[in-house]
Amino acid sequence: MLGPVILAASRSDRIRRLVSAAPVTKQVVDRFIPGETVDDIVPIVADLTGKGLDLTMDVVGEDITTPEQSTIARDAYLALVDHIKDLDLGPRVEMSVKLTMFGQTLPGGHELALANVRPVVEAAAAIGTTVTLDAEDHTTLDSMFAIHEELRKDFPQTGCVIQAYLFRTEADARRLAASGSRVRLVKGAYKEPAEVAYQDKHEIDKAYVRILRTLMDGDGYPMVGSHDPRLISIAQELARTAGRKLDEYEFQMLYGIRSDEHLRLAAEGHRMRVYTAYGTDWYGYFMRRLAEKPANLRFFARSMLSR
Ligand code: FAD
Repeated sequence: MLGPVILAASRSDRIRRLVSAAPVTKQVVDRFIPGETVDDIVPIVADLTGKGLDLTMDVVGEDITTPEQSTIARDAYLALVDHIKDLDLGPRVEMSVKLTMFGQTLPGGHELALANVRPVVEAAAAIGTTVTLDAEDHTTLDSMFAIHEELRKDFPQTGCVIQAYLFRTEADARRLAASGSRVRLVKGAYKEPAEVAYQDKHEIDKAYVRILRTLMDGDGYPMVGSHDPRLISIAQELARTAGRKLDEYEFQMLYGIRSDEHLRLAAEGHRMRVYTAYGTDWYGYFMRRLAEKPANLRFFARSMLSR
């Protein structure tokens, strides 16, 4: 019940100001977003890769309001590439981007986002790695898939994300699987209306399994984005049935969530990629993490009250 309320709050400027100004917020935020600057994050990259984990790096930010902020987003990712290139980790450290952080929803935003994300994809390719386009709310997805298709003409390894809760996703998965793309499948983290998305958790899980089977049976590279233990074991079974070797798919989880499971899967020989977000514009990302698990909200509320 609380999830949709928190997701609605994630779009409110008034609540953003309140939450951001709360004195304890930062210490709770750190669990999910372990740094503010690129200098903070490089030791974390070295630490996690040293433990056998791969990473996808996200500079937090979304829904920008001026075209200039799109250039700032581009430059933040270019600085990240510059900082990680000396670690020489190639595809072990890739990047995830949200196109609304590149201006996708501004007037003329499709072209603006494509123009500013392309240099990031080019820079990633130059150090032997790649970029995945995150999935945001359903109104942004046609543009995201068009940008993905455009980028794949020059950089076929560019990935994208699909969300099991949307009715459209089974068709998207068939198209992407046939085209041999890298695809991360997640349940979906936004507040979506009943006209476009399943609302029932059980229905979402069933859709996740159907879509994952399509990806595993297809020609692409499936990236299983979930912390759900049941879905993880189903994914292993589907990969076995499809005859995939351990390096022909991967698991992905978020930094700070089920960290023991990251290490367990990596120790079993799986490729395990940790989605690691950093930066100062953390509000939307943080609120989605609160919405996913009511216990997080209780912890947050308790830490405010205990001050
Ligand atoms: P759930 O059933 O929600 O969780 C299973 C178990 O995992 C829970 O019981 C709990 O133990 C643990 N858990 C899950 N979430 C939390 C949390 N926040 N805090 C503490 N414990 C938790 N969504 C998008 O819409 N677009 C994206 O581009 C996107 N990218 C993602 C990338 C990765 C690598 C991952 C893992 C998720 C991403 N998501 C994205 C979020 C996703 O849609 C879900 O909201 C999120 O993963 C929770 O679903 P779950 O599959 O883990 O299952």
